Amino acid sequence: MKKKILIVGGGTAGTMTANNLVNKLMPEIDRGEIEITMISDSKIHVYRPGAMYVAFHKAAGHEFIRDQRSLLMLEVAFKVDKAVEINSKENFVKGASGEIYNYDFLVLATGCEVAPERIPGLKEGGDWFYSYEGAKKIARKFEKLKKGRVLVTVNFPKTPDIPHQCGIAPVETTMMLHDFLVEKGVRDDVEIVYSYPTKSQAVENGLFLQAPTSEVLPSIFDSINVKYKTSFTLSKVDPDKKIAYSQEGEEMEFDILMSTPPFIAAEVIRTSGLSQALDNEGWLPTDRKTLKVKGLDNVYTLGDTVDLSVSKAGGTIHNQVDVLIANIAGELRYGYPTESYDGKVIAIAQMGLQCGMPLWYDYEEDVKPTPCSKLGSFVRLGFNKSLYWAAARGML
Ligand SMILES: Cc1cc2nc3c(=O)[nH]c(=O)nc-3n(C[C@H](O)[C@H](O)[C@H](O)COP(=O)(O)OP(=O)(O)OC[C@H]3O[C@@H](n4cnc5c(N)ncnc54)[C@H](O)[C@@H]3O)c2cc1C
Repeated sequence: MKKKILIVGGGTAGTMTANNLVNKLMPEIDRGEIEITMISDSKIHVYRPGAMYVAFHKAAGHEFIRDQRSLLMLEVAFKVDKAVEINSKENFVKGASGEIYNYDFLVLATGCEVAPERIPGLKEGGDWFYSYEGAKKIARKFEKLKKGRVLVTVNFPKTPDIPHQCGIAPVETTMMLHDFLVEKGVRDDVEIVYSYPTKSQAVENGLFLQAPTSEVLPSIFDSINVKYKTSFTLSKVDPDKKIAYSQEGEEMEFDILMSTPPFIAAEVIRTSGLSQALDNEGWLPTDRKTLKVKGLDNVYTLGDTVDLSVSKAGGTIHNQVDVLIANIAGELRYGYPTESYDGKVIAIAQMGLQCGMPLWYDYEEDVKPTPCSKLGSFVRLGFNKSLYWAAARGML
């Protein structure tokens, strides 16, 4: 009988999974033995890192958006439908349309979303670049900024050892902001303060979630006159007075609060009963090697929705996807998964508007800061423009 693979979520993880599965399972698909279906709650596909460039007027936004169907191989059946129920006992997902999607194998790739309302006053008083709407809003504020203080704050999930989305993004955008203000000729009149919470992932009282980068950041920030403040865990914001308060009892005034807000998993995951994450954050309990949802033999997950300690980043997904598709193919062909994820993450960080820093790490080794260069930036901008779409289509 035909086996059904269902993918929920048409973002980076779901799209790479779908197209790479088609490549991997082409003989079975040709013989009519396998059917791959994706449901996503949107007909468009958003390249999320593009929002950082929108925040500094280096892109308008539309460059990073494509029609989701156009990215999928013809062998993938695609439906725009919002998953509202996951029934892992009877192997089906229910859509908001009322349709029931049965599966033999399920891949949950619904990402994560910003939840600024989880910190009092942040929604009203803060800004962020993690969505295109947010990036456009902060871009207008940056454009008008002639003097004052930009305060950078970073929030981590309450569930231990889980990162926020794209760990390096607060550093990237702090450096991009510096370059942007230099370009506009107002850098001397604007103070940039980068703050970091007392507890991140592996580091306490530092400036980054892993020690080697945390240790190198002061010299980088000193070289561009960015002030930095450790142990500032944002607890509330007064939007009228423009003051940010910390759990540690300090307060800081700001003109613009560029925040990394709280993140949570998609609603369908939070209400599924599958997650034990604290504060109903919804991260899926994930086997760090097989990428199966723990306790469910035919349900896999990857990308921003997992509860793994690795970065919630496209550079993570790129490495997870090969493992996940090999394991589903292994189960179909031999009856068992064949690959193991080692936690590898590979990316190029945009360290300012002209500089790209290649970085990689895995479960065993922390990320090591490497020299950033114009060549690195060239590759990163090339990835944004075209290589990403090749990767999403399963060609890279
Ligand atoms: C500003 C910014 C900068 C970044 N910079 C980098 C970087 O430099 N390098 C890097 O590697 N990564 C970076 N990232 C992170 C990267 O973009 C994410 O890790 C990646 O997009 C996550 O992919 P995903 O598929 O898990 O989630 P998403 O891409 O968010 O996709 C989730 C999909 O699920 C769909 N969905 C949600 N709920 C449902 C539902 N109930 N039913 C059906 N569909 C649903 C959504 O519509 C969406 O299509 C950055 C992200 C941001 C925001």
